[in-house]
Amino acid sequence: MINMILLGPPGAGKGTQAELLVDRYHLPHISTGDIFRAAVKEGSPLGQKAKAFLDAGKLVPDDIVVGIVKERLNQPDCQEGFILDGFPRTIPQAEMLDRYLAGADRQITAVINIDVDFEVLIRRLTGRRVCRNCQAVYHIVNKPSQKSGVCDHCGGEIYQRQDDAEETVRKRLEVYRDQTAPLIAYYRERGKLKTFNGEEPIQVVFDQICLALEEQNG
Ligand code: AMP
Repeated sequence: MINMILLGPPGAGKGTQAELLVDRYHLPHISTGDIFRAAVKEGSPLGQKAKAFLDAGKLVPDDIVVGIVKERLNQPDCQEGFILDGFPRTIPQAEMLDRYLAGADRQITAVINIDVDFEVLIRRLTGRRVCRNCQAVYHIVNKPSQKSGVCDHCGGEIYQRQDDAEETVRKRLEVYRDQTAPLIAYYRERGKLKTFNGEEPIQVVFDQICLALEEQNG
């Protein structure tokens, strides 16, 4: 059973690794950031509550986030394992998650911590571009689309997420340092943490993660 958390600062490659892990292990991928962005796009009540926090690079309040994640983890497809990406982001979220899982006789089996230097993250995030239609990810320097502004996969429009603007990126990294980084010690103390160098190529990081998961699962 793999009940996994992907931990790491914004831009560390959690989403990228999550996609590869989904292909290999066929587990549901729960990205709270994706859930909020979809809600904002729809203009649902959740989206209306979350929008100001996302635009400012601030965290959505814990009770809102935890409610959404619990509901998702209750669904049948999550009973055989899951990948949490971007959650938990605070110690109270982690404590609430642990209590919820314990109540259902479940637990987190691995916390994959992806470590990247902040200067590298600033370059990655401010250069990141995303397809509005299929969410494919590009980078103005490292991975430009063939035709400027147009998605190679679906022809959709490529744009910069509002929270990838430099000022917001700096704010998000500050929020990470103050509120999320303490989770590294939280999970290390519980013997769940495995740390990977997120500055290595994507495939190298992925292979190392798979090896660690397979060693653990015997
Ligand atoms: P991400 O795509 O994971 O970087 O998330 C984008 C934004 O969604 C964050 O900057 C927060 O505003 C919000 N968000 C995502 N996950 C959480 C969480 N676990 N707790 C609070 N806010 C979150």
